[in-house]
Amino acid sequence: MKAIVLENGNPLLKEVPIPKLQEGDVLVKMKACGLCGTDVEKICGQYTASQPILGHEPAGIIQESTVEWLKPGDRVFAHHHVPCYECYYCKKGSPTMCPYYRKTNLDPGGFAEYFRVPAWNVKRGGILKLPDNVTFDEGAFIEPLATVIRAQRRVFIDKDDFILVVGAGPMGLLHVMAAKVNGAGKVFVSDVSEFRREYSLKVGADVSFNAAKINIEEEVKKLTDGRGVDVAIVASGAPQAILSALNSVRKGGRVLLFGVPYKGTILNYDISNLLNNEISIISSNAAVEEDTREALNMIANKKIDVTKLITGKFKLEEFNEAVREAKEGKTIKAIIYD
Ligand SMILES: [Zn+2]
Ligand SMILES: [Zn+2]
Repeated sequence: MKAIVLENGNPLLKEVPIPKLQEGDVLVKMKACGLCGTDVEKICGQYTASQPILGHEPAGIIQESTVEWLKPGDRVFAHHHVPCYECYYCKKGSPTMCPYYRKTNLDPGGFAEYFRVPAWNVKRGGILKLPDNVTFDEGAFIEPLATVIRAQRRVFIDKDDFILVVGAGPMGLLHVMAAKVNGAGKVFVSDVSEFRREYSLKVGADVSFNAAKINIEEEVKKLTDGRGVDVAIVASGAPQAILSALNSVRKGGRVLLFGVPYKGTILNYDISNLLNNEISIISSNAAVEEDTREALNMIANKKIDVTKLITGKFKLEEFNEAVREAKEGKTIKAIIYD
């Protein structure tokens, strides 16, 4: 079968054996898999959080199964990382910090004709069946949307909150859409790319700023009676994005760190501002079953149209083209097909 394999930092389309199943495993025929910013970071050697396996937003069809409840032909979403739900971290509400969480993965990853979902994941909520009204394209958004849902639960979006989303890539735009579902009032967006700034207006942003041209903090203050936003969401890895968020939030406000910062990021920021202004910083990393279920429900109930974010469709053979467009910021979400 064909699969994208990372070799010395280069994604190569290779002919590899179809993975063999052990008891409890299932084999999925990939039908759609989103290209994530972290895939691009892994290719560039910039990713700081986990091992470099590519493709973690897949939806597909069960090809072969060793478990009773999943049958060949079932349409599914598969989650790459799954916690144990039994350790100290899991029991204390930090399941994505479970020591087993990042050890689990799809084999050989989501950018392959077929991938094996290990028994560990199958047994612990790592596979969700897709209802008939959810397409494979939509299924490819379950993982990214789940991480957004968990993050917004952690930072807490109150009704009518003013929100600033810094960074209008696919994750930032999912934050815009989810914040609206969660009852936010006005949502402001900033990005240094004119293409992305404009795109944010199509998915529900009320106002968008080009961060390369204007001072976001000043604009945000003008739009909030001089206060600043209730919640600022950092959906970028750039240090300047974190500073913009910290400087745009009101007294008593919350900053959500969501984009993975570049390796070695050090901020030039006066920490006394945090305490004097009672600013909270909350980070959120990844998602678990509870969140993927909520994401699937949000999609199935048509509360959110994630397909608005698809700007590129590529076959496995065209993978490098998708990566190039993503690196150049010419696309919002690229979906890779078998
Ligand atoms: Zn991702
Ligand atoms: Zn655990």
